[in-house]
Amino acid sequence: MTRGICILGATGSIGKSTLDVVARHPDQFRIVALTGNHRVAAMQALCAQHHPELVVMAAPEAAQQLRVALRDAGLKHIRVESGREALAEAARMPGVDEVMAAIVGAAGLLPTLAAVESGKKVYLANKECLVMAGSLFMERVRHHQVILLPIDSEHNAVFQCFAEGKGVRRILLTASGGPFRTWPVERLAAVTPDQACAHPNWVMGRKISVDSATMMNKGLEVIEAHWLFNLPASQIDVLIHPQSIIHSMVEYVDGSVLAQLGNPDMRTPIAHALAYPERMESGVSSLDLARGPDLQFEEPDLRRFPCLALAFNALKAGGAAATVLNAANEMAVQAFLDGTLPFSRIAAVVEDTLSELQPAAPDHLDAVLAVDQLARETAVRHLGRHGSGMQ
Ligand code: NAD
Ligand code: MG
Repeated sequence: MTRGICILGATGSIGKSTLDVVARHPDQFRIVALTGNHRVAAMQALCAQHHPELVVMAAPEAAQQLRVALRDAGLKHIRVESGREALAEAARMPGVDEVMAAIVGAAGLLPTLAAVESGKKVYLANKECLVMAGSLFMERVRHHQVILLPIDSEHNAVFQCFAEGKGVRRILLTASGGPFRTWPVERLAAVTPDQACAHPNWVMGRKISVDSATMMNKGLEVIEAHWLFNLPASQIDVLIHPQSIIHSMVEYVDGSVLAQLGNPDMRTPIAHALAYPERMESGVSSLDLARGPDLQFEEPDLRRFPCLALAFNALKAGGAAATVLNAANEMAVQAFLDGTLPFSRIAAVVEDTLSELQPAAPDHLDAVLAVDQLARETAVRHLGRHGSGMQ
């Protein structure tokens, strides 16, 4: 029996790596549903290769163009829908057994929750779900008794080293430090989106690439680790490791440190999760430690990377601080990518939004969405101040 797969965010970097792994094992998987946003040609190519039953494009005009393109290509048996509710419908489809949650940002929360609430096994790449709604999300996971497996390479590494979680002293999330780790801080004001997205070790979507360059990505991952592994901030450390060979470590009370290593290729954590508790081929080459680069480690410099400190503080503050942090960061990163905010002001927009808003912990989904919306509106005002003078 093959397992039916839905990929939320199929046209993205994680989506493509997932399809690459799945296509190596046609005896085990069948693609039932794929979702995208507005990239019609990319989705058309995926349809021709994987023949899903349902495709959802978040943007209605993209869905209409895709219908025409599929009809012209002789693929009109593939149903095309659009809009938010249809994204959730893709995740809930009866023929879907397992859902890869790989939409970027808050837009992934509702469809990923739909997967959880319909009892699907969930592979979580979309870390923003846990940052904005960690308590509620994990409560739903427990309530529906679904299997949730981490795709983020660090969390997948911790999961592989975590055993039953007994006697853990701390976890060490490794971070590459991004493209600007060694740049003079004064030069950061003038960096361009393309420079920020040129990650030294990973090819990823633009939002997570910018997050890696500010190290907000590691901050989001600290919060993600808190929810996934039920550890306080005091037991989560970040270590810069520019080569991205060690994907993270777990230290035990007896002094043992377990690490997971591999070439930096997301197909490894994806294949690990898809096969768990077995193992499967991923297409990733062997790690050659003798011929590879020397492995280096250093402490993160919080003056260079203020976003990392903001995320740690938001986790410690509790309440809805992480929801605010995530929303303000999404707005600031988009403004930077649009050329209206300098790279070096991303942290300031997030910090100012966090100082202005201290909402109580949201206890239901509508409250989370309301805080997210309020934080976005507040961030827009701060964007106006910090972005003035830009082209
Ligand atoms: P990406 O930008 O390459 O792809 C994002 C996907 O989400 C695309 O399919 C896009 O169509 C879809 N999408 C974007 N906005 C949407 C919206 N409003 N509604 C519906 N769909 C929308 O991003 P990515 O690099 O693949 O990252 C996806 C997620 O995985 C992110 O949360 C990221 O943090 C996480 N992640 C990525 C990597 C990586 O190596 N790329 C590693 C770890 C975690
Ligand atoms: Mg990661």
